[in-house]
Amino acid sequence: MIFVHKMLDLLPMTHQEIREKFINFFKEKGHVLVPSSSLLPTDPSVLFTTAGMQQFKPYYTGEADPEKDFGSKNVISIQKSFRTSSIDEVGDDTHGTFFEMLGNFSFGGYWKKEAIAYAYQFITKEMGLKINYVTVFEGDENIPADTESEKIWKLMDPSIKIKKLGREDNFWGPTGDEGPCGPSSEIYVGGVEIWNIVFNQYYQDKNKNLKELEIKGIDTGMGLERLAVAIQGVKNIYETDLFSFGKDLPRIIADHSRAIVFLISDGVLPSNKERGYVLRRLIRRIIIKGNDTANLYDILSSIIREYLPFYDNLEEGKIRDVFKEEAEKFWKTMAKGLAELNKLETIDAQTAFKLYESYGLPYESIKDSGKAKNLTREEFDEEFKKHQEKSRAGAEKKFGGHGLLLDTGELKAANEEEVKVVTRLHTATHLLQASLRKVLGEEIKQAGSDIMAERLRFDFTFPRKLTSEELKKVEDLVNDIIVRDLKVTKEEMSYEEAIKTGALSFFKQKYPPKVNVYSIGDFSKELCGGPHVSNTSEIGRFKITKEEAVSAGTRRIRAVVN
Ligand code: ATP
Ligand code: MG
Repeated sequence: MIFVHKMLDLLPMTHQEIREKFINFFKEKGHVLVPSSSLLPTDPSVLFTTAGMQQFKPYYTGEADPEKDFGSKNVISIQKSFRTSSIDEVGDDTHGTFFEMLGNFSFGGYWKKEAIAYAYQFITKEMGLKINYVTVFEGDENIPADTESEKIWKLMDPSIKIKKLGREDNFWGPTGDEGPCGPSSEIYVGGVEIWNIVFNQYYQDKNKNLKELEIKGIDTGMGLERLAVAIQGVKNIYETDLFSFGKDLPRIIADHSRAIVFLISDGVLPSNKERGYVLRRLIRRIIIKGNDTANLYDILSSIIREYLPFYDNLEEGKIRDVFKEEAEKFWKTMAKGLAELNKLETIDAQTAFKLYESYGLPYESIKDSGKAKNLTREEFDEEFKKHQEKSRAGAEKKFGGHGLLLDTGELKAANEEEVKVVTRLHTATHLLQASLRKVLGEEIKQAGSDIMAERLRFDFTFPRKLTSEELKKVEDLVNDIIVRDLKVTKEEMSYEEAIKTGALSFFKQKYPPKVNVYSIGDFSKELCGGPHVSNTSEIGRFKITKEEAVSAGTRRIRAVVN
């Protein structure tokens, strides 16, 4: 990232000063500061607090009265946040598991004009930063484009660059079956998204109908770490003064140690499930990486010192005790694992994974033993992935509860109607794979596929997030083939023959000696058990609804047809 702006003759703002500026700026505009809520939300179905708005949900729906509780319809917070979805991204320049989110919120107090003006003034005047560009919602077949926000941005700054993006990037919610939702607008500084402003404009009911909300809400979130990167003119969050405790540490240790401090102080204890398991994984990872436990204690203590002025519930004694107990347990388990390892003559991928799973022995230690001469990292990771697939499949068995008419493992449908939809989605999945190969390169490989009437879900190997341009290209390509109404044909042949013709196979699957190869014109050819539509036009319109990471190196796309 290149930051054009850097204060020339002044020392860069510290994170304390950023916090103060944010609080004072919004207080002057009638906001009340509400303390951060715990990382453990009161709603037990949610694992962790991931954004500032979470504690304010009842004020958006009208269940609670902000004026009674805060004395104002407009509030701000600096919210502790933790995202497990970021664990795979830790190590990049801009994602942490734990981070702090600065946010201003309004429950019927003000609307787009004020929200955009505040954000613009804060970034450009208070922080003295240059905005690269902003994004607004471009609209789709169901929801109009957010032209109002576009106009306001232009009024604010006629030369500002505005990008228009779709539902995936610039529309928020609803969470669950129904609820408030609306377009969003994001601010990019130094090439990175730093502030997301959500306009809670609609209520979506169970049948996906949208109604304008009576009480319109503003919900914003800006990462303190990313803002500090921009202000302090450094290259990544680890170089900001929020990480002054760990300038030379491996990023995993710096990131996870901070998360460990905050999770323990908010009441998480290591265990084998849910929140406790997440904490256990974080602790184990830094122990493996850091090795020297005494040094890790020092790191935890420096974090506590750094953050005590803002969070008074950081109890050093408690945090150290929980960490110590878990570390000792882990060393003991590892010692058992090493004893097991010593009993073995040679170690293959499966045994290595067992040692990892049961005793936490990392790949490196297993290699160091000299007993796994032929084992490669790839094989080990492969075994790991297989295991993930299995546990995922287990979780999805629950779905079978209501008697399925079709269940191929990949396709599931409860009645005739659903069989038709999943058949269309299935052919669309073949087109999706072929299109991904065209747009991203032949080396992408299927890593999983799951289809039910609501959507298709396709996993594939690829090292990074797809850009919105790439997603659009893929979507367009699939729709092009659909409208060309290509014939879908089936041929039976031996497995060897099929592979020779270049048909794609899914390596995880065991194929019988005779297989079916489905071709869609000359665009796609795959080994497959069907069922498929006979002509691509039967699929209807194809739309990607989400792209995300499943694990490092594996991406997931969800899509629908209508
Ligand atoms: P990205 O697309 O960059 O992963 P996001 O769209 O998931 O971010 P939002 O959910 O919009 O992020 O969160 C609001 C703001 O919080 C972001 O603009 C960013 O400044 C900050 N933020 C989000 N995730 C992280 C993270 N993992 N680490 C640090 N800051 C984050
Ligand atoms: Mg965002």
